[in-house]
Amino acid sequence: MKTEADFAIIGGGIVGLSIAYGILQQGYSVICIDGTDTDFRASRGNFGLVWVQGKGITAPSYARWTQESARLYPDFVARLSDHTGVNVSLSQMGGYEYFTDQNIFNQRIAEYEHLKHALGGDYPYQILSSDEIRAAEPMVGGQTIGASYYPYDGHINPLQLLKALAEICQKMGLSHYLGQIVDNVTQQKGSFRLVSKKGLTISANKVVLCAGLGAKKLAPLFGFKGLISPQRGQVLVTEKLPPVINRPSVTIRQVNEGAIQIGDSNEEVGFNDNETNAQMSIIASNAIKVMPMLGQLRLVRAWGALRVMSPDGLPVYHQSASMPGAYLVTCHSGITLAAIHATQLSQWLIGGPKSQDISSFSEDRFNAT
Ligand SMILES: Cc1cc2nc3c(=O)[nH]c(=O)nc-3n(C[C@H](O)[C@H](O)[C@H](O)COP(=O)(O)OP(=O)(O)OC[C@H]3O[C@@H](n4cnc5c(N)ncnc54)[C@H](O)[C@@H]3O)c2cc1C
Repeated sequence: MKTEADFAIIGGGIVGLSIAYGILQQGYSVICIDGTDTDFRASRGNFGLVWVQGKGITAPSYARWTQESARLYPDFVARLSDHTGVNVSLSQMGGYEYFTDQNIFNQRIAEYEHLKHALGGDYPYQILSSDEIRAAEPMVGGQTIGASYYPYDGHINPLQLLKALAEICQKMGLSHYLGQIVDNVTQQKGSFRLVSKKGLTISANKVVLCAGLGAKKLAPLFGFKGLISPQRGQVLVTEKLPPVINRPSVTIRQVNEGAIQIGDSNEEVGFNDNETNAQMSIIASNAIKVMPMLGQLRLVRAWGALRVMSPDGLPVYHQSASMPGAYLVTCHSGITLAAIHATQLSQWLIGGPKSQDISSFSEDRFNAT
């Protein structure tokens, strides 16, 4: 394996590997250094949605970025599957958000109208009445008063996606170091030198910091603010069933193997990814309000995992001013954004043409904080 390359990527989660893939496609050499199994790893604990609705309600640039990634997804996944044979089980036939409170439903409709206007009309959401959503999804009932629908929403098997990315990158020549924690960084004459705790030394012309929550510690070494924090989400998994849910919602989806996953917590509890009985019972009772039949099913598994959150919840794409050639890339929807990270964001990292202005995602927006 190489110890010198055009690019070194710190972090081999979904963000690091999507970018490694994008850069390798442009003909550059890439080394990825990934940490250990004791790290917090959102890429292994997420909900697997490729999701647009609800994102960027007050930040149209983020809504547009997310929408573009969702539109790129079918091609992105087709190429991964063709080259690796890994089935990532993408189903992208649209998705729902269910509502049980009329005021919240009305507020969401007003927000979507506002966003649609800000996006020049390009926000093809639909609103479904209680009867329409019950007809479309036979499991839906209970207190559901309606739903929003967005046609590019979908879901995927996120672990298979990670596997496919690792395999395609390996085929394209990625040097992938596992179990290595980078903790020392220097830059001399334009070249970076990264050293891991175990003494692995890597040289590269450019570095992309994609270390998830690990970036909080490393960011200052590159002159980044690194204002990220953990937010816990818990996920419940039922026994397997034949197909009973046609499309995913933001909190309930039936995965390709048949189990129903339920998850909707956003907890500010620091670096703690435990699951808790109290939160699991809130998640279950909210789900039963929308799909009462879920109450008949056995739960077989649950987990907690930590999201990687910036102060405003938007991605951070930033080149260091004090160490040019070092980039920070972090986001809280790395599954959804994988397709655009492998294309447009990678173009930006290699210095190619940009098809969308991403300056609003720089760390400079936090200057006042
Ligand atoms: C409960 C939950 C549900 C979610 N649901 C969705 C969803 O439905 N759709 C969606 O789009 N997103 C979802 N997300 C978010 C998504 O999972 C994350 O945005 C994404 O996984 C972040 O990927 P990452 O590569 O930045 O971070 P990680 O997966 O955390 O990877 C970072 C990597 O960096 C390595 N690392 C850390 N420090 C160092 C170091 N010093 N040296 C070397 N390596 C290091 C770690 O070992 C790790 O492998 C969810 C997240 C959670 C927690």
